[in-house]
This record gives sequence, structure tokens and C-alpha cells, in this order.
Amino acid sequence: MTAPPPASGPQRIVLLGATGSIGENALRVIEAYPDHLQLVGIAARSNADQLAQIAQRHPTIRNVTLFDQAAASRARSEGLFPNGVEVHKGLEGLTALATLAEADVVLCAVVGVTGLEPSLAAIEAGKDLALASKEILVMAGKFVMAAAREKGITLRPVDSEHNAVYQCLGDNPTKDISRIVLTASGGAFRDRSLEQLAEVTPAEALQHPNWSMGPKITVDSATMANKGLELIEARWLFDLQPEQCQAVLHRGSLAHCIVEFTDGAMLTHLCPPSMTFPIQHALMHPLRLPPVEPSLDLRQPFSLDFEPLDQQRFPLLGLAIESLRTGGTAPAAYNAANEVAVEAFLNERIPFLQIPRIVEQTLEQMDHRDPTDLSAVISHDAEARRLAQHLL
Ligand code: NDP
Ligand code: MG
Repeated sequence: MTAPPPASGPQRIVLLGATGSIGENALRVIEAYPDHLQLVGIAARSNADQLAQIAQRHPTIRNVTLFDQAAASRARSEGLFPNGVEVHKGLEGLTALATLAEADVVLCAVVGVTGLEPSLAAIEAGKDLALASKEILVMAGKFVMAAAREKGITLRPVDSEHNAVYQCLGDNPTKDISRIVLTASGGAFRDRSLEQLAEVTPAEALQHPNWSMGPKITVDSATMANKGLELIEARWLFDLQPEQCQAVLHRGSLAHCIVEFTDGAMLTHLCPPSMTFPIQHALMHPLRLPPVEPSLDLRQPFSLDFEPLDQQRFPLLGLAIESLRTGGTAPAAYNAANEVAVEAFLNERIPFLQIPRIVEQTLEQMDHRDPTDLSAVISHDAEARRLAQHLL
């Protein structure tokens, strides 16, 4: 792959969640275009060895963070990282990376809401933010988008459906959008009956038909919570009303969204189900260079079938839509309870169908207000986690 180096030099990137599924795909893109993209900082939770291997390959990295304190101490005492690399730890460490003076772009791909504070700090520091961690906008979209607007920063969506919408929208103003429709593959259990869903195991839930992703989001795909979270994410990213954000089943994961404009025109975005495509767009935009893996082969037949989604078998979708309509702190409670329940399911503490019940009961038992500040959302999130734990 060849492309002339940019006159302004490479974009300098901090990658939070470098050892995960998004992290791995981001590395493929970054390593394919060293003249355009350069890593200056990487972070993970505890996987020190893999993080050290990435640092060995990228001598431009001078700062790394291991969120887990014990992992950071071991990395320091065993000298895992090359000389001159500073090893940070904890949330302060993630924030230090997100605000590194030499960084241009922060790609946040940490699972869950841990990336919220570092992402806000990155915006405050004037960095561009490429956002994969959808939970952040679900929990605190109002505050993240307000901060980005105030700083004049464009959020670059990494989630494939949102990146697709972003590309379809182009320069069209929000007032011309009638609705956006996100496509859902349907996850591992799209063809299972309710009776069958009662028996499914974590190992089965982790077998996604189309995408290779981390465990939390793969379970979220199997419950459809992922699409629910994405509808809430879309509401904030594109400044839409809840009823303008919809979802449809599309088994092939080749079309990632449909954007319908007020004159009835519908645009879609096609690419293979691999995150390298949206990541490359998010990191390179507006520059378009060859993809790091083959695009769709139009010599092979393929179909674009769309079907309505079944909310009966997948109540987490309806609950997400309900929390989106309720607004305020409801989506934060939805997300927090879902995280607790998914972890319990993965640890075989609860059956699959208990996940939506925990979320539903958590939502029912809490008061949802319009949060006046971020701390109100953070305490609502904590309260929902406590309640969901109690309900397990
Ligand atoms: P993975 O589980 O594969 O990876 C998670 C990454 O986050 C790992 O690098 C992990 O480090 C790191 N991490 C977890 N907790 C912390 C923490 N407290 N501090 C620092 N780093 C932490 O997840 P994915 O890559 O699948 O997903 C990441 C995010 O991107 C999620 O929000 C997901 O919803 C979103 N997303 C993912 C897609 C995908 O295709 N995978 C598609 C669209 C969105 P360690 O290895 O040490 O545990
Ligand atoms: Mg997605």
C-alpha cells in the first residue's frame, strides 16, 4: 500500500484499549500507514505483556497505562517496556494519556464506561476523539456532546453503524434527516425460540455469526442490547429525536445503516463486517486511502435483506427504546444494569433470560431525572449497579 506522506506529518494517536478487539483492528490500520498514523500512547487494563509487545513495535510510544495497579507495578519491576517509556496506572493514568501534549487524536476503545473521564479530558485538552466505547454516550451523551460542541471538536464515530451514518450524512443538515435506521445482524441467537433462549450458555452466546468482537459486546449482540445501546448512541451523536432512531434486522452485516431524508431518499453504506473499515475512516477522515483488507467483491452474488426485529424475544431492545424515550438518567441505569447482568451471565451466575429481567427491574425501581451535571449521572450509574447486583 503506498500513499504520499501528508505534508503536515502523521496524526499522533493515543489508543485506549489497545489489547482488545477494536485495539487490534486499529493497530492493523495504524501499522499499514506509518506515514499517516503514529502511536504515541497505549493503554489496557491488565494485559501488560501484550501492551509491551505493541510498545516494542512502536518506538514513538513514550507513555503507556495499565489501569490495574498490580499489573503496572509488575511491568515496572520487570522492566517490560522499552527504556524511556513511562508506565502510568489507574484512571489518572488513562487521563494522563488522553491529554498527552504530543497527541492529536484519542481513540477510546475501553470496554464499559471507564473511558468517560479520559474522553472528557481529551475533549477539554482539544484532542479529536474517535469513539468506539458506546457506553460513554449512552451514560453521559448530553455532557460529552456539549463539551465537544463547546470546544469545537468533531466526534469521530467508530461503531460501524454510526460511522456509516456519518458517511451517508455528508454535509446534509440534521433538519433534512427524517430517520436513521441501524442494521442488526441479530447476534448468535437470532433464530432461537424463547424456550431455546432459556437454555443457552455463555460459550454459545460468544459465537457471533458475522463479527469477531470482545465478550461484552458479543453477548450484547445476542441479547440485542447492543442495538439498543446504539440507538441511544445515535440519538446523541446525530442530535436526533428518539423516534428518529430505528433498527432493522439485516443478517449479512454488509449494509450498516439506512439514512432516510425528508424527501424520501434513502442512502446506505456497504462494506464487509470488519472494524478496520470504520476505524480507518475515523482515523484518516477526510483522507481516503486503500483499505487494509479487501472491500466487497461485487463479482460474487450477495443479498441485502432487511426484516423487522422481534422485540418479544429480545426485550432489551424495547427497554432501551423506552429508556431513550424516558430520557434523563434512564439510559445510564439501563447501561449500568446491563453491564452487571452480562458479567454475571458470563460468570455463569445467571441464565441468559435473566439479563433483561435484571435490567427491567432496575429501571422500574429507580427514579429517572434530567441530570443537571455529570456527577448526578455518575451517582445514578453507581446506584443502578448496586441495585442490579442486589437483584442478581
Ligand atoms: P475487548 O474486551 O476486546 O477489549 C477491551 C479493551 O479495553 C482491552 O484492551 C482491555 O484491556 C481494555 N480495558 C478494559 N477495561 C479497562 C480499564 N478499566 N482500563 C483500561 N483499559 C481497559 O472489547 P472490544 O474491543 O470489543 O470493545 C471495546 C469498546 O468498543 C466497547 O465499548 C464496545 O462496545 C465498542 N465496540 C466494539 C466493537 C468491536 O467490533 N469489538 C464494535 C463497536 C463498538 P485488557 O486486555 O488488559 O483487559
Ligand atoms: Mg455496532
